[in-house]
Amino acid sequence: MKIIPISLPTPFYIGPVNVYLIAEDPITIIDTGPKTPEATQALRDGLRKAGFTVGDIRRIVLTHAHEDHCGLARALRDEAKDAEVFVHDWETGHRAGRLEHEESLRLLVRAGVPPDELQLMRKLYDDVRQYADSLDEEHCTPLQDEAELEFETGSLRVIHTPGHTPGSCSFIREADRTIIAGDCVLKRVTPNPILSPDPIDPTRRFRSLAEYLVSLARVRSFSPTLILGGHGDPVHDYEELFNRYIRAIRERQTQIIRLVPGDGATAWEVSRQMFPDADDVHRFLAVSEAVAHLDQAHTEGKIALEISEGRDFYRALSA
Ligand SMILES: [Zn+2]
Ligand SMILES: [Zn+2]
Repeated sequence: MKIIPISLPTPFYIGPVNVYLIAEDPITIIDTGPKTPEATQALRDGLRKAGFTVGDIRRIVLTHAHEDHCGLARALRDEAKDAEVFVHDWETGHRAGRLEHEESLRLLVRAGVPPDELQLMRKLYDDVRQYADSLDEEHCTPLQDEAELEFETGSLRVIHTPGHTPGSCSFIREADRTIIAGDCVLKRVTPNPILSPDPIDPTRRFRSLAEYLVSLARVRSFSPTLILGGHGDPVHDYEELFNRYIRAIRERQTQIIRLVPGDGATAWEVSRQMFPDADDVHRFLAVSEAVAHLDQAHTEGKIALEISEGRDFYRALSA
């Protein structure tokens, strides 16, 4: 069972995205790249080099519904004459037109993001959504944890690895313990748990960092020999990377706890202190990261949390 990486350009800060072609019946592509002419062309070239065309694709499997990964899913599905699209049920992103959007905005208000910044984030969001076509619910097959995607000479097992997003999935080929991990494991960056509504109760925040830590440990439990991430080079030494992630997460938590004052601050205020120079999309990523760490610190009993006038205030305990 051959796994062929194809690198596609994206208009995003993160740089190119890796999609993976499983060159065996049923021909499967894991992630699709963003909806841009450049990514479409690069994908066609990559498929051709491997001896295939878009029309040969029978399955489109999405690690998660961020634009750089799912953007072309709909177009490929249509061109490949109803190839089956697989995505986890908790992945609300572009699967159904971003229903979560209003709920995400509510979460940002609770995190203390001021109205003018919200307007800016809304505009950024509208800019980003052009890079993906929405997928209708009835066109998606849900990915189930532990399910097997069968191929002619092998299979990939689905591992639900929430954290980066609630419905993020990875795929393991057990024969050689190779894992295709989307944005759960990236060689050069510690992936950011993105602020998301809880898929079961959208009025709540998804406990992204807590879930992410569990997912990292779960990936580790497979003793992977090779991890193919959504961006950057493959990871050969996950153990080392795992420890680096854990260290970085602990350091960030310590740093964030120190920024929490005795009289309380919102996640937005903490994020502005932590990353004063962050601009546009990075302000969103910064507040996302602050919320994730503050919630985790609160869960661990290291800081207090109070809700006042519809916003969450985190307070140092020792004040
Ligand atoms: Zn992502
Ligand atoms: Zn990505």
